[in-house]
Amino acid sequence: MNLIGKTSVEIAELLKGGGDRDFRGQQVAGWIHQRDARTFEEMSNIPKVLRNQLAKEFFLTEPEVLEKAFSGDGSTKYLFEVEGGATFEGVSMPDGGKATLCLSSQTGCAVGCTFCVTGALGAGRNLGPEEMVGQYRLMRRDLPGEVERINLVFMGMGEPLFNTTHLGQALEILFERVSPKRITISTAGIIPGIRWMAALSKRPKLAVSLNAPDQHRRQEIMPITRRYPLDQLMASIRAFPLERGRRITFEYVLIRDFNDSVADAGAVARLIAGIPCKINIIPLNEDATHFPELRQPSKEVVDDFAGTLRDAGRVVTVRWSKGADVAAACGQLKGRNTAVLALK
Ligand code: SAH
Ligand code: SF4
Repeated sequence: MNLIGKTSVEIAELLKGGGDRDFRGQQVAGWIHQRDARTFEEMSNIPKVLRNQLAKEFFLTEPEVLEKAFSGDGSTKYLFEVEGGATFEGVSMPDGGKATLCLSSQTGCAVGCTFCVTGALGAGRNLGPEEMVGQYRLMRRDLPGEVERINLVFMGMGEPLFNTTHLGQALEILFERVSPKRITISTAGIIPGIRWMAALSKRPKLAVSLNAPDQHRRQEIMPITRRYPLDQLMASIRAFPLERGRRITFEYVLIRDFNDSVADAGAVARLIAGIPCKINIIPLNEDATHFPELRQPSKEVVDDFAGTLRDAGRVVTVRWSKGADVAAACGQLKGRNTAVLALK
């Protein structure tokens, strides 16, 4: 059993076995989750006999790092491999004393959005809690010493709300180090998953990939909209409980001549009326292999779109993709490697 996927309370419970073990459980858990131990061997204040015993019963395996791609903008993209040979990505974006780690929840994605490399790769498998936590540990270890504050965003590969059981367990473990208000779950709009999040006692922040101003166009690029229609999605977002000072994040991938007009921006403003939120505009990361017909709008168009929403009183950020030079957009590193493999 891999203890990286267990909470400290569960580790202490698992170790119970009478005598010394009962007393050492908390210490071992502290080594794993607070001190980031990778082996039982390094747990220097645990008696050697117990360490050996634990190493026979349990393990502390992390994903394997297949590749690290360093970008000129300071971000690093990781390609991880897990048991069975499946691969997935994570991105680390340090910024002075802060860092954002972008985490994956699956090794592919069944949602199949037309503008997404991960979607083009098709369904993968769910990552286990130990794999989700493992990627966090690996990326955190590489962060520069000056980083004090870490934000986690589940915006890597996969649809986190199609993996709620493992995500819930991973969150319990991550909460031991990172406050829920520093963790964001990004979803394509899985309504039962949003309700699941709404019912959590410790709730991360919710980001919803909106990406189009109406049902018709959203369905065209996000087929999941057929199953979870936009009006019902908006209703589930309006019902989502918001702690003081919190907002919903709407992500909006801007695609040239598709969803990028000033009229579209106005329609978005009407759609989100009354919702405390911010809008994160992501000019499309183009991909000549998987969707050559989709293009990024010009900077002027992006500015006009953002300006229209700002004029409507909205908080808007524009995210020109970090690490574009190392294919850091969602699924692109794995996509590139897959393409290379396919050529061979
Ligand atoms: N499945 C979840 C989380 C992973 S995708 C979701 O869809 O929200 C994370 C974000 O990347 C989403 O907002 C998605 O719209 C965006 N994205 C996917 N492909 C992109 C691309 N080619 N260019 C820009 N953003 C993209
Ligand atoms: Fe899946 Fe999100 Fe990509 Fe859509 S945008 S295919 S939901 S990972």
